[in-house]
Amino acid sequence: MNVLMKWIDGHNDTITRVENVEEFIKGNHNTHIDLPRARRAGLGAGFFAMFSPNDEGMPKFSDFQNEEGYQFPLPDALPIEKSQLMTNEWFSRLIQAEKQSGGAFTLIRNTDELEECLTGDRLGAIVHMEGAESIDTDLNALDVYYEAGLRSLGIVWSRPNAFATGVPYHFPSTPDLGEGLTEAGRRLVKKCNELGIMLDLSHLNEKGFWDVVKLSDAPIVATHSNVHKLCPISRNITDEQLDAIAASNGVIGVSYVVNMLREDGKIDSDVPLTVVTDHIRYVIDRIGIDHVALGSDFDGATIPDSIKDVGGVQGLLQHLQAEGLSDDDVKKIAYQNWLRVLEHTWK
Ligand SMILES: [Zn+2]
Repeated sequence: MNVLMKWIDGHNDTITRVENVEEFIKGNHNTHIDLPRARRAGLGAGFFAMFSPNDEGMPKFSDFQNEEGYQFPLPDALPIEKSQLMTNEWFSRLIQAEKQSGGAFTLIRNTDELEECLTGDRLGAIVHMEGAESIDTDLNALDVYYEAGLRSLGIVWSRPNAFATGVPYHFPSTPDLGEGLTEAGRRLVKKCNELGIMLDLSHLNEKGFWDVVKLSDAPIVATHSNVHKLCPISRNITDEQLDAIAASNGVIGVSYVVNMLREDGKIDSDVPLTVVTDHIRYVIDRIGIDHVALGSDFDGATIPDSIKDVGGVQGLLQHLQAEGLSDDDVKKIAYQNWLRVLEHTWK
């Protein structure tokens, strides 16, 4: 048995999926991540997403799927009043979890704290907002959430908002669907640069992506996306987008979302580890070892049986070594690339 390697995860929805904070701290069998399992699995830190769903819930994928694929519709825009109530509940849960964990779980606000989590035994949470619906177009709420600990923002989830248009789940499809950033979206990018909030472009459509590439002075990041060449779903990243990530010294966190991994785009969890490592290796071959990391989407998607939950990631890292990657290379994928990007992004 190899020594446990510490790792950073680019995206999970866990705090919105547990029944309550105690369930997360004590452990449960309903979510992909909980505190005891995460620590046993070597997870040093993760981006914990605060996502506000629409009232009507999510339409069922199966209602839109046919032989050719699917065109999953964009949910309606979510009003700020509704979004903020939910964001505040998720944020409060993260704060409560820190208080109730006896020091085992901590919110991360700078890279010193992140490095402590990678050497010690605590699990760190980087607070991420998935979709900027809780931010007003004057951007006042951004100051408030930043002071509370927000360090990462997805401008959109896969629906439109005041700042940009999200990419819907279409298969097969390019990500070039819909218009680019709004004027408020451009101001949002600049203010995130000023404050040192990382921008996550995983759910952004292609025009919006290129707008951010032009405007932002920080590394370009997609926290939970995969390779469009290997799985042509609209949510995945094209070769040209990969090149832009590398040119900015950014990173892509490869996700374990089965319909973003499989070349047939199907929601089927029979996905061997080699399919996941194919995506990782494609990124390495195209743009180099410094620009690929992990971005599970645990508790936000159907995960391969070969990974199953947070406990399966050591197996993935060992599989990469078995395929010939050096220890140093695997460390870059596991945590060093995330650390570098955050050092260049946070103030
Ligand atoms: Zn997501």
